Amino acid sequence: MSLRFVPLAAALACAACAELGVVGDGTTVSVGAASDGFLVDGTELPDRGVGYVVPARWRARGSQWGTDELVGLIEHTGARLAAELPGATLGVADLSRAGGGLGPHHRSHQTGRDVDLLFFVTDRRGRSVVLEEMRHFGEDGTTVDGGPPLRFDVARTWVLVRTLITDRDVAIDHLFIFAPLRSLLLDHARATGEPEALVAWAGELLSQPGDSAPHDDHLHVRIRCPRGDAACLDGSRARVKKPAALLPAHLVEQLTARPIVGAPWLHGPRW
Ligand SMILES: [Zn+2]
Repeated sequence: MSLRFVPLAAALACAACAELGVVGDGTTVSVGAASDGFLVDGTELPDRGVGYVVPARWRARGSQWGTDELVGLIEHTGARLAAELPGATLGVADLSRAGGGLGPHHRSHQTGRDVDLLFFVTDRRGRSVVLEEMRHFGEDGTTVDGGPPLRFDVARTWVLVRTLITDRDVAIDHLFIFAPLRSLLLDHARATGEPEALVAWAGELLSQPGDSAPHDDHLHVRIRCPRGDAACLDGSRARVKKPAALLPAHLVEQLTARPIVGAPWLHGPRW
């Protein structure tokens, strides 16, 4: 049993933690809500791995701590993107601080279940550009912040979304993004013949938060509470069930290919 990364006050205030399932299972433990909680025995994401990199600005912050599930998701996603999008590198910004809790840059990101991902972008001639900084994009998917003009790469960012939401091991809770960019992604997915169930599921998870920045400069990923983290609190929003969770693994692969007809387990798209 280890409480290495529990802030002292939290540890003292947490005499009942064993009862709550906070400690003692030998893995990372996410405690509380994303905007009011902490992280026990977090795992640190390496600065770079297959298909991803943490740019210097975020490396300097030391906020690369997450649950095993979140860190695993980033690593799987990088590896899958490297296979599907040769040459693409996913930029990873903040996860949580060691031990979680409130930090200077985010209201959420407190429990090791949030990560900010940089968009895939191109220059005006369509050449891939790897971002070192977040850039703000407008409704038409071009930059609006006065820097060198860039374009939101809808096709490759859609592959990122698809990769995240079809991860076999980790359930996504939310993908926060500026509403017009969300529409570009979903329109692209439909136009390229992605399975209806997959597009519907993406539409369910992608949203612009109503109570924080519009997320016109990054994709904010929040995963569901890991199984066994009994004191972890998911949001209360009612959800349809992940289609993949109802399917055997080989069919999950097919779901990400095409075509598949019908989506009886979904209530239908809601974007
Ligand atoms: Zn964010």
